[in-house]
Amino acid sequence: MAKTLLEARRELALANRIVASEGVIDAFGHVSMRHPNDPGRYLLSRSRAPELVTPEDFIEYDLDSRPARDPGVGQYSERVIHGEIYKARPDVMAVCHHHAPAFMPLLATRSDYVPVFHLGAVGGIKPPYWDQQDEFGDTNMLVVKPEEGASLARALGEGWMVLMNRHGVTVAGTSVKDCIFRCVFSAMNAEYQVRALCIGHSVASLTPGEAQLAGQISTQTTGLARAWEYWSMRVANKAGGLKAEGGKTARTASKLTPAVKRKAAKAGTPRRR
Ligand SMILES: [Zn+2]
Repeated sequence: MAKTLLEARRELALANRIVASEGVIDAFGHVSMRHPNDPGRYLLSRSRAPELVTPEDFIEYDLDSRPARDPGVGQYSERVIHGEIYKARPDVMAVCHHHAPAFMPLLATRSDYVPVFHLGAVGGIKPPYWDQQDEFGDTNMLVVKPEEGASLARALGEGWMVLMNRHGVTVAGTSVKDCIFRCVFSAMNAEYQVRALCIGHSVASLTPGEAQLAGQISTQTTGLARAWEYWSMRVANKAGGLKAEGGKTARTASKLTPAVKRKAAKAGTPRRR
């Protein structure tokens, strides 16, 4: 069923808070979605930390990353990442750009990402690298010009994740939830991969066949809905949790069972990641 604009804004605000809550994003980084009613536009928050984003914060952009109207507020400087990927890839419905700490050892050494456990398959095997220096020389490393965003989108190609040498990661998805699933579990995989490398043995990756099959877990099982409910509960348990319809928190609005609520209370402690 098609989403209303209000539902889309609520889902995208929750997505922003989830990637923050799960340690993928801090004050920087951003999540966008293609406009639910107009594929020639996308929604991206005004410039603020994702953990604070509300459904009212989104600005509508065209695919050249120009706001539909003067927003009168600060905007993310790296929004061309989103616009140029939506322009190049009609199948992409959501984009997240982040600088997750778990990825930084790989990005600083230009080491390949490989899936080392089943859920890490969402990042693919050896996703492409992009280095702004190669095409644009010395910059402040921010992707702010349309040609820089277009270059990054070319590097992404038909894949779902591109690694940005000495900067961060950009992830695409077929939906907001798909994109967030990729972000959280690829960051978890990067952390495991780096830790495994520290043991000093060679790291065993999934085979291409295993990665292809395991990469479908989120869409072919209840995994995506299960993870989204869990992450939503963790966001709702935080002070200042995102309010859902009717002034309820996302947790109470999701009609959780008493058993799940008890688990929720336990899991409310922040994760170390
Ligand atoms: Zn960045």
